[in-house]
Amino acid sequence: MLPIVVIAGRPNVGKSTLFNRLAGRRAALVADTPGVTRDRKEAEATLRGRRVRLVDTAGLEESAPETLYGRMRASSATAVSGADLVLFVVDARAGITPPDAHFADWLRRQGRPVLLVVNKAEGRAGANAALEAYALGLGDPVAVSAEHGEGLADLMREIADRLPAEDAAEGDADRPLKLAIVGRPNAGKSTLLNQLVGEERMITGPEPGLTRDAVAVLITDEQGQVVEVVDTAGLRRRARIEQALEKMSVSAAIEALKMAEVVVLAVDGTEGLHEQDLQIARLIEREGRACVLVLNKWDVVPDRAAARKAVADRLETSLAQLKGLPVVTMSALTGHGVDKLLPAVRQAHAVWNMRVATGALNRWFEAALERHQPPLVDGRRLKLRYITQAKARPPTFVVFGTRAEQTPDAYQRYLVNGLRESFELPGTPIRLQFRGTQ
Ligand code: GDP
Ligand code: GDP
Repeated sequence: MLPIVVIAGRPNVGKSTLFNRLAGRRAALVADTPGVTRDRKEAEATLRGRRVRLVDTAGLEESAPETLYGRMRASSATAVSGADLVLFVVDARAGITPPDAHFADWLRRQGRPVLLVVNKAEGRAGANAALEAYALGLGDPVAVSAEHGEGLADLMREIADRLPAEDAAEGDADRPLKLAIVGRPNAGKSTLLNQLVGEERMITGPEPGLTRDAVAVLITDEQGQVVEVVDTAGLRRRARIEQALEKMSVSAAIEALKMAEVVVLAVDGTEGLHEQDLQIARLIEREGRACVLVLNKWDVVPDRAAARKAVADRLETSLAQLKGLPVVTMSALTGHGVDKLLPAVRQAHAVWNMRVATGALNRWFEAALERHQPPLVDGRRLKLRYITQAKARPPTFVVFGTRAEQTPDAYQRYLVNGLRESFELPGTPIRLQFRGTQ
């Protein structure tokens, strides 16, 4: 996983412009009007030789009908919780505004490294603002002009200096597993998280307060292993943004799952799978994350066998790409069955990390080709020669052969299903690529 650099700040300070500069292409739309709807943008970028994943939080503000500061915070919280470094951008021309100061206060309490960036500092405009910005207590500001391309080399060096050491970023075994809990409103996500944490200390209190803004929660499972829950957005946002809830729950899910390794998709078991649940599941698959499906509120499901069957049928017809998806039934309210969740999460994580030995892989491949010959394409038979696993997280395989890239979908599916069954890769996204050789 690449280190994650999140760009946060007030609307219109130039986050998207900076993002484009750092990403090296015009990846995000830039708009003059504050709060114009934009999708959050992500890109991989190389900053002084380090690969990073850049995240632009611009355009998330408008969903939440609240104060500017509240909106900034709500929209950035999830992204910030998963960040290895936060670039907090302020506007030199506007100076440091009260929302900037509030946001800085909040940011300081998030425990993530922050680099203060004073944008629109072309010419001499930045000097005053940079002085003001010291007062935010976030260390030395870096003055740039994203639009005019000034100060960017310095900025990149400052970013690179603050990234975690290279080997720590790459699959450190001691790193806590990163988990997100997503799902539609009322599925029971906050109740479940409270059960996992074992006390009600954070989120569900009635009055708005600091504690409900916890954005990353560490929990320890029976084996003493630590799991980091990267999203509490559904919980945080709930009390504040009732109207926008339906919309937010999906966009929050999208953000959260990008930061996670394993995603728990919580569903209200009394309602079964809705189309929106399937959409989130497909998104998890597309992002290549491991997934565990939770059927919650099992205590009040009248006919459990029927409910289970309905879900299984729906998964089979509508979610074939995650065949074998682990399903855990529970009552987050009573706690019954909650203990099954973390073992299932660990198992899903292990499958997602699986590496198959090349020898075994090619023995399977030969047998698979024998059982069903590759089809004719334009009257000529495809010659598929061998297969390797290019990477894990999720398992990714490459098939080489003459005109391999022309392999029809149906045959691709046949191979993916074979891989899934033969190497026990249930419920995890499987990537299969084809490369032509001479
Ligand atoms: P965002 O809302 O924070 O993502 O801000 P944008 O990137 O959309 O930029 C808002 C406005 O500020 C746009 O009109 C940009 O052209 C302008 N802008 C961005 N960077 C600079 C800069 O370095 N100097 C000046 N003068 N304007 C800038
Ligand atoms: P969220 O919006 O996904 O965070 O859902 P909440 O955790 O706030 O739960 C929504 C409602 O469902 C609350 O009234 C919970 O008490 C209730 N709830 C959550 N889990 C269960 C459960 O397992 N059984 C029952 N009967 N109710 C539950």
